[in-house]
Amino acid sequence: MTPGSDYNMFEEVSAYLDKAAGFSELPEGLLEQIKQCNNIFQFNFPIKRDDGTYLVIEAYRVQHSHHKLPTKGGIRYSDLVAKHEVMGLASLMSYKCALVDVPFGGAKGGVNINTKDFSLHELERITRRYTVELIKKNFIDPALDVPAPDMGTGAREMAWIADTYLTFNPNNINGIGCVTGKPLSLSGIRGRKEATGRGVYIGIRELAEDAEMMKKVGLNAGLKDKKIIVQGFGNVGFHSALYLHQAGAKIIGIAEYEGGLYNEEGLDPGQVLKHRTDTGSILDMPGAKSVPNSIEMLEYECDVLVPAALENQITSHNAANIKAKIVAEAANGPVTKDAEHILLEKNIIIIPDIYLNAGGVTVSYFEWLKNLSRVSFGKIEKRYEMLNNRRIVEAIEKASNHNFTTEDKQGLEVGADEQDLVNSGLEETMVRAYRNIRDTSQTKNTDLRTAAFIVALEKIAASYINQGIFP
Ligand code: NAD
Repeated sequence: MTPGSDYNMFEEVSAYLDKAAGFSELPEGLLEQIKQCNNIFQFNFPIKRDDGTYLVIEAYRVQHSHHKLPTKGGIRYSDLVAKHEVMGLASLMSYKCALVDVPFGGAKGGVNINTKDFSLHELERITRRYTVELIKKNFIDPALDVPAPDMGTGAREMAWIADTYLTFNPNNINGIGCVTGKPLSLSGIRGRKEATGRGVYIGIRELAEDAEMMKKVGLNAGLKDKKIIVQGFGNVGFHSALYLHQAGAKIIGIAEYEGGLYNEEGLDPGQVLKHRTDTGSILDMPGAKSVPNSIEMLEYECDVLVPAALENQITSHNAANIKAKIVAEAANGPVTKDAEHILLEKNIIIIPDIYLNAGGVTVSYFEWLKNLSRVSFGKIEKRYEMLNNRRIVEAIEKASNHNFTTEDKQGLEVGADEQDLVNSGLEETMVRAYRNIRDTSQTKNTDLRTAAFIVALEKIAASYINQGIFP
């Protein structure tokens, strides 16, 4: 299912905000200010193809909200990229950042290409030219607007963007913070690549361990043996599946472009990835059933359905057939507004995108902080912590007259490194935000998405009011 002509992502997101606004009393005009996109940059640029011909490419960068700067949001490469989509994704970023207390406004970029149609060199030329266009208009800068990866882009593209920005801004001492999701060797941060999927896992785990919420959908508390279907086996889908599998859940289905894989006993995401790398497709994996029409898999029986590919996947056409008890929105906007109504009527819990996939921007924030401070998390205190822990272990040994084994000692004496601290910050962010939206949904007697939007709306409104822009 691809977005139809009547689907407008920005209008969908704005409708969620309107619903949340019904629970708040905002000064006149403030809701409109929060809702609208502050800057929309739509442009076309030419690139020379490998065969010597020229192609003109359509691209966007939208800054939704300047209530905090810089604005932040990924860059998507897809042939479905359209203005309403980039606007919708940019607005989701504002609400997401506010919800999880990441001090950025929301933005998004899009380039209308199918990456499969271009060689590596062509993709590099497209990325560098796109970045130059952003530089010309001040739409990229560590203090103003900081892109990151999204669908169709990753660390490689972020490295090209950073290099292009620094070429034009060699005297910007914070220049390397102009983009996040960079490779580790280029001032990236440990844990960024897997951050969104790890956050998705934490969010689903928090709900699964919430006995009261699970009772509402007739499930026992806990992740163990929960049956999960994941749509999209890219960065977010793979890492979500991996952590859920490691926590004891059963990944019974994976749906991709070319079809799906199904195994009632559970699939090992690591093995599926290896099979895909070896053969070029997830299909025909030994021990699993291949499903030709993957969109049908969204309608299979399962406990948790994790759409992790793109927007507009669960619509009024298929919502009535969804059998999952929980829909966990790892992708942005996978459930349309009309479909949400049907799912909620069916007593299905939706974990909303603005919460569930916020792990990516959370760790991007840590990367930006690292770039601005020019020091890795843990570098200064790790050895000091180790030494302190060693002293405590020795004191306990002396007082108890008991010696720990070498293995136990190694476990007790460690100091936190960058990966530990990133994971700890991500965990804290996701757990705290879950409690916040869960409590809000109870006090306001509403669903989790509306609760998440209420929390985000109140924070953005407070920011405008505190700046004196609104009374
Ligand atoms: P990706 O390009 O790494 O992976 C997307 C995967 O979905 C690909 O494997 C693609 O083949 C598959 N796919 C595309 N259309 C499909 C369809 N119709 N049916 C089945 N599979 C399909 O992208 P990603 O970074 O994993 O992003 C996925 C979603 O998560 C997007 O909505 C994105 O906005 C959102 N998201 C990503 C991040 C991040 O850090 N990458 C952060 C927050 C949200």
